[in-house]
Amino acid sequence: MSVRVRFAPSPTGFLHVGAARTALYNYLFARGNGGTFILRSDDTDTARSSAEYQDDILEHLRWLGLDWDEGIGTDGNHGSYRQSDRFDRYAEVAHDLVRKGKAYYSFVTPEELDGFKKAARDAGTSPAYDGSLEPTQGEVARRLADGETVVIRFAIPRPGTTTFTDVVRGETTFDHSQVDDFVILRSDGSPTYHLASTVDDVDYGITHVIRGEDLLSSTPKHILLTEAMGAEPATYAHLSLLMGPDGKKLSKRHGDTAIAAYRTAGYLPDAMDNYLALLGWAAGEDDDDIAALDEMVERFDLSTVSKNAAVFDVKKLDWMNGVYIRTMSDEDFADLTLPDLEAALGRGLDAADEERFRAILPLVKERTKVLSDVVPQILFLFGPLDGYDDASWQKVMEGPEAPVALAGARVALSDVEDWTTESIDGALRRMLEVEELSARKGFQPIRVAISGSVVSPPLFESIEILGRDETIQRIDTAIDELGTN
Ligand code: GLU
Repeated sequence: MSVRVRFAPSPTGFLHVGAARTALYNYLFARGNGGTFILRSDDTDTARSSAEYQDDILEHLRWLGLDWDEGIGTDGNHGSYRQSDRFDRYAEVAHDLVRKGKAYYSFVTPEELDGFKKAARDAGTSPAYDGSLEPTQGEVARRLADGETVVIRFAIPRPGTTTFTDVVRGETTFDHSQVDDFVILRSDGSPTYHLASTVDDVDYGITHVIRGEDLLSSTPKHILLTEAMGAEPATYAHLSLLMGPDGKKLSKRHGDTAIAAYRTAGYLPDAMDNYLALLGWAAGEDDDDIAALDEMVERFDLSTVSKNAAVFDVKKLDWMNGVYIRTMSDEDFADLTLPDLEAALGRGLDAADEERFRAILPLVKERTKVLSDVVPQILFLFGPLDGYDDASWQKVMEGPEAPVALAGARVALSDVEDWTTESIDGALRRMLEVEELSARKGFQPIRVAISGSVVSPPLFESIEILGRDETIQRIDTAIDELGTN
């Protein structure tokens, strides 16, 4: 039997990092087993679903390289793979289950249900609704004929238990006394999540359901429904939830949770995949945790996924993204950053700009964590300096050493014969000795004078690339600014 798995997001929000990890594990499991990865849309909640969210999900799955074989936008044997197109099918199954005595028309009102649950709690019995408030058979027929509001509930077999072996969590048992006779078809004829999801999993021949742990308590319902439909339940694997570094459930309080935000900030899809894989699985062969998508496909083993909650730690992601950036070729790095630079400048690069861009990029590549950090760091090389960063100015320009360092640098750089990094380095270090300045006190004012900030690419290389005239002019401007000229 060949593996068939599905990723089934509800288009009620942007693709979330936790959902992306679920998609990734489904993808790795399918690819590693020569199986089929299916994408369906759980859009039964038509009021909260939107085309914008749906597009975001598809776009970012593609961006992550998690291409699907069957499902939305591809040919398959199951129609549109959108649950909103399959309401007739769900209603057909619900009514069929009623005919088979596995489900029933339910007239119980929310108030009656509340009363039932309260009475059960008071009596110390299970508050799970068991159908005991429903009318007799004859009355059901009459009330249906009267057109009364009715839902269809699944009849949980009582007493009983459902036990399954979760690939991640091991043997898991639910006592039916804790499970409500749950609604499968609402009074307006729309399916609940439990019905739609189970019917799709059966109809699409899903062999393994890999999804978030928040759905664990739904699984006995899905298994019982599957069996009532006369089908064989899938194997289930529930992935632990993601937490923030404070141990609380990952949420916007911890920072961005949408994949789109990470893409915009300049994370690379390969680094993102690698990092997401680490949230519950040891992706790397060695301890370095670094593994490309195809290596992960080779090595992925669902049974070694951890059931412990995983911490989403942006610092580790930053580190990993930096590793991926450093392994890129200079050309690829240039291709990725050039559009941002041109956008920031509002123009294309001329030949001189182009030369500076090529010269500075390898130096920046070595120290970049996210791509969006690149342009702000190199912009000073491509036009007049656009003021100084306030915090940087206060930090290094307001001490007594700044005017000394700037005046010293002006003289030292004017005297440099061949304008190379080495000569600039030598000249400025001699200046430090003469003026008796530490490297920090002596070099930081020069850095702020030429780049506007204490955060810049390496100083001597930057000075070389900027050129002597421009460097000296910027030092003069800073000296003027200090009012010590
Ligand atoms: N649509 C559900 C969600 O977005 C997932 C359903 C499932 O995997 O069974 O959480």
